Amino acid sequence: MIEFEYWWLLVLPLFFLFGWMAARVDMNQLLNESSALPASYFKGLNFLIKEQHDKAIEAFIEAVKSNTESLELHFALGSLFRRRGEVDRAIHLHQNLLERPQLSDLQKTAIMVELAQDFLKAGLFDRAESLFRTLCGAPSYQQPALRALLDIYIREREWQRAIDTARELELMSGVPFHKEIAQFHCELATTHPDDAESHLTSALEVNPFCIRASLMRGDKALAEGRHEQAIQAWKHIEHQKPQYLGLVASRLLQCHQAIGRGEEGLALLKNWVQKYNLTSVLNVVYEATLVQNGPRAAAELAREELAKRPSLNIMDRLLQALEHDPASAPVDLPMMKKTVHHFLGNSRSYCCDQCGFKARHYYWQCPGCNGWETFPPEPKEQPLR
Ligand SMILES: [Zn+2]
Repeated sequence: MIEFEYWWLLVLPLFFLFGWMAARVDMNQLLNESSALPASYFKGLNFLIKEQHDKAIEAFIEAVKSNTESLELHFALGSLFRRRGEVDRAIHLHQNLLERPQLSDLQKTAIMVELAQDFLKAGLFDRAESLFRTLCGAPSYQQPALRALLDIYIREREWQRAIDTARELELMSGVPFHKEIAQFHCELATTHPDDAESHLTSALEVNPFCIRASLMRGDKALAEGRHEQAIQAWKHIEHQKPQYLGLVASRLLQCHQAIGRGEEGLALLKNWVQKYNLTSVLNVVYEATLVQNGPRAAAELAREELAKRPSLNIMDRLLQALEHDPASAPVDLPMMKKTVHHFLGNSRSYCCDQCGFKARHYYWQCPGCNGWETFPPEPKEQPLR
């Protein structure tokens, strides 16, 4: 037992010795590596940390001059040029690099990736596109190149090419793009009204839950005077995603009214309010009730809904109905309205799930982050502050 403890007394210092030696070797290696980098590189990094980009650029230019072989240093300088908006200098730098003899395939690909990003930043989409097309042939960069191409086609509104590229990407990555492809078909239906029907059919084949295609199909039928088909197309949304019915409630009611079936339309919307509890549909029902059946019926409707859930929007509707009916309006009505409006304000807006972009109107593609179908179907009603 005592011998065993002596062993430990010998082994422990040896462990410390090995640890110390290993640390020294690592430190020496690190020092050797860092001494290979020019001092101006660290100066540049320092300026970057302090967000002094102009000085960082000067320091990196120095670093590149004293270490002409390092591609990484050139890339750092190029991306700084891009960030500063000096895209011409970035393009010049990367084009010069590409002309170097004896570049490996990997190095060539890396330079082309940088150059393609310069072209994108400069808005030279044609040149960016042709570079990314070439990069599709590089096995290590195939998917990012296709993704970049897809973004270019969307930005340029070249929908057929966007469809083809998204299909290619879907096959290669296994990531589904059916939602986007259906949206591209809807865009084609908008830009090619003569072939709209076939594009909308394609949209629904690719994505049977494409609400926009049903909505557009209804709009098209209405524009051609086919009211019954319009109603059927919009009603189909209930079987796709009923939470989107608020987007068609108003036009559906008007379409019913146009062919003398207003009551039937209103009953349908009331049924949807009961089943799906959608504020947008309720608003349409409320407006129609106010016009068709008078303020008392509208107030009653608002009270029924308020009993189910507290809502500033419905409270506002109730006060509006009371305003139309002076006999039952409380004396404090103007003050109550002012208070509700203070908190309600313009807060009823659609808000992108992905980036938080707020909009008064519904967008299929978010103007903030360019995501597709990122807006929830109902505008947000903000709670009391
Ligand atoms: Zn967004």
